[in-house]
Amino acid sequence: MIIKFNEVLIKGYKVGKCLCGKRRSKTKIFTQTLNPFNKNEDGTICTRDDILLKLAIEKNEWLKEQIYCKNCDMPSYWGLTSEQREFYDKNGKDATIKKFFLI
Ligand SMILES: [Zn+2]
Repeated sequence: MIIKFNEVLIKGYKVGKCLCGKRRSKTKIFTQTLNPFNKNEDGTICTRDDILLKLAIEKNEWLKEQIYCKNCDMPSYWGLTSEQREFYDKNGKDATIKKFFLI
């Protein structure tokens, strides 16, 4: 845990297997700032501990998500037809194509 000014952040790390069988690790930073607008559900201003708790919940959700390798790193990849996947595998590095499939 690192505290920088009024920013609270925690780092997440996970290793998993993609649906295609490749292993991949991922890191993600979860961050929120301590400020008067960051409030709890009861309306009180979040303390650093409140934020840490919220970040821990967020991190937990992220840890549960399926991990994808670089080639399949698209949420709907496995929902595509085999033809679409083939097309994506050839052209998927183009961000606009990726976006097209995500719509
Ligand atoms: Zn994969």
